[in-house]
Amino acid sequence: MRETLDFLLHDWLDVATLLQRPRFAEHSTETFASVLDTCERIAREKFAPFNRQADVQEPHFDGERVHLPESTHAAMAAYVDSGMLAAAQDYEVGGMQLPCVIEMAANAFFSKASVAMGGYAMLTSGNASLLMAHGTPVQKDVFAKHLFAGRWFGTMCLSEPQAGSSLSDVATRAVPDGADAQHDPLGPRYRLKGNKMWISAGEHELTENIVHLVLAKIPGPDGRLVPGTRGISLFIVPKKLVGTDGALTGERNDVALAGLNHKLGYRGTTNTLLNFGEGRFPVRAAQGGGLDGRGAGAIGYLVGEPGQGLRCMFHMMNEARIGVGLGAVMLGYAGYEASLAYAMNRPQGRPMGPRGKDAAAPQIPIVQHADVKRMLLAQKSYVEGGLALELYCARLVDELATGDDTQRHAAHTLLEVLTPIAKSWPSEWCLEANSLAIQVHGGYGYTRDFPVEQYWRDNRLNMIHEGTHGIQGLDLLGRKVVMDGGAGLKLLATRISATIERAGHVTGLAEPANALAAALQRLGAATKAAWATGNPEEALANATPYLQAFGHVVLAWLWLDVALAAERGSSSLKPGKLAAMQYFFAYELPKIDAWLGVVARREAVCRTMQPDWF
Ligand SMILES: Cc1cc2nc3c(=O)[nH]c(=O)nc-3n(C[C@H](O)[C@H](O)[C@H](O)COP(=O)(O)OP(=O)(O)OC[C@H]3O[C@@H](n4cnc5c(N)ncnc54)[C@H](O)[C@@H]3O)c2cc1C
Repeated sequence: MRETLDFLLHDWLDVATLLQRPRFAEHSTETFASVLDTCERIAREKFAPFNRQADVQEPHFDGERVHLPESTHAAMAAYVDSGMLAAAQDYEVGGMQLPCVIEMAANAFFSKASVAMGGYAMLTSGNASLLMAHGTPVQKDVFAKHLFAGRWFGTMCLSEPQAGSSLSDVATRAVPDGADAQHDPLGPRYRLKGNKMWISAGEHELTENIVHLVLAKIPGPDGRLVPGTRGISLFIVPKKLVGTDGALTGERNDVALAGLNHKLGYRGTTNTLLNFGEGRFPVRAAQGGGLDGRGAGAIGYLVGEPGQGLRCMFHMMNEARIGVGLGAVMLGYAGYEASLAYAMNRPQGRPMGPRGKDAAAPQIPIVQHADVKRMLLAQKSYVEGGLALELYCARLVDELATGDDTQRHAAHTLLEVLTPIAKSWPSEWCLEANSLAIQVHGGYGYTRDFPVEQYWRDNRLNMIHEGTHGIQGLDLLGRKVVMDGGAGLKLLATRISATIERAGHVTGLAEPANALAAALQRLGAATKAAWATGNPEEALANATPYLQAFGHVVLAWLWLDVALAAERGSSSLKPGKLAAMQYFFAYELPKIDAWLGVVARREAVCRTMQPDWF
């Protein structure tokens, strides 16, 4: 994997050009490499050997405390020591000012070694980055700084038992905490009451405190909650209250663990139902304030403006979605490598010659059977293609942060359409890779003696959280490809066409270039046809097949672009990259015809089917 990572970063994305930007001027290709080396080593030594243990010894709640294996504590301590929580942040806040693309590449090692242990870190740096973007100077100093330093870990609390995909139905309430609520130095102070479901890393003792970022609604003057997402605000709710000096006050906030969820996979990350403000840990008085007269309530400090909570949270969710996509890719990668190693060593069957098999011949390793090669090539095309996708998006984040106006505008426009793909495509296809990895192992893959079943279970989450697959499709077809007159799709088409143009002149790449041109044309036509009646119900009934087709076109484009880079250089990886590209064009890209077919004719069966006909 390291070789492919280096090839994608240097031969394909040419990350050295980032060194010309003032923000990265103190770096060099050597510092980039040393970050990758360090992370690869920590992941190999502190994460990978304990991935199974984190699964088997899932978090346990004894009624008072949540217990995690000692190895998780050690892994997280090593991660914190590496400084990776603040890798992309400014030097002034203890960061390394690394490009996002290098940060993501470095984090890939942890996702591959133990995605569940890595979950705590991803949430913490996402939480702190959000506060850097939307918090007050005091909130940055008191909360973000200690999160980046790993003294505290963070969460994101959006979901509620009755509000998952439909966040507009969030029912957690936040009311001002007393007369001086607006003057608390930590931010306007509120009391929160409500239940948050599915909260990852919501309880543990890995750090001395947990900083929850919570979506809640501030009632209007009539005491009612504003319907829709407009009424949602964002609050910092620490598990233990802190002063402006960052020291714990010694008082517990009214956030209680109602219970742990027992999951299919991803078991190393605790998953919790949290009760806010139910009086389990009544807060006597908030700093500088009196009792609010409303009884129990968890103290929370408003972030940004009231009603802007979802907008602020999306800041974190876009980063989180690239992170989720990368996690899905790396689980796929782990399964690919495991099944490749197995296939190289498992003797079974004899070669098929022109006159059939010779029963007297010795057995061959299964990697020599065409059907096993098919399964390995599929995995290779999914996981290496997925890695290219995530690195490309991370590179766009760097353009957004450090490019000139034109580059920033282009990066923003492209990220709008690519983020749903970055999250959803690997969630589906690198999960399929994990299924194929099990298949390559035969019966052994179906046992817990081999790691591949855990990779599949861990990866199954990714189509569900951070916006389900269905919701990503609705976002893409319902919003992203139509916004600003379709600017995102147009710019993407321009980029894809540039690759097609270049590939058209290279021997061996003209045929896939033509296939991609035809696919792009079909995608554009289907997008128009879906919206031809202007009726969202008709257009969006097939949003998921649209998402699948869109993703496959994007991946075909990236594979062709990667193949161009392989053709340019003399890397020993070249034949493998070209074969994976060829596989993707031969076996995968043609699938878009079926998906776009239902989109373009606005196939009605899913829309018109009646619940009582099932
Ligand atoms: C392990 C795990 C970790 C999680 N971590 C966190 C976390 O840290 N913080 C947090 O806030 N949340 C977290 N979540 C919650 C996660 O984001 C939600 O599970 C997800 O948003 C879906 O919500 P739901 O489970 O209520 O399902 P529902 O919203 O009820 O969806 C059920 C099904 O219906 C479909 N559906 C729903 N609405 C529509 C619609 N309008 N159109 C078409 N189809 C629709 C969905 O696509 C899905 O297939 C986590 C979940 C899990 C399982």
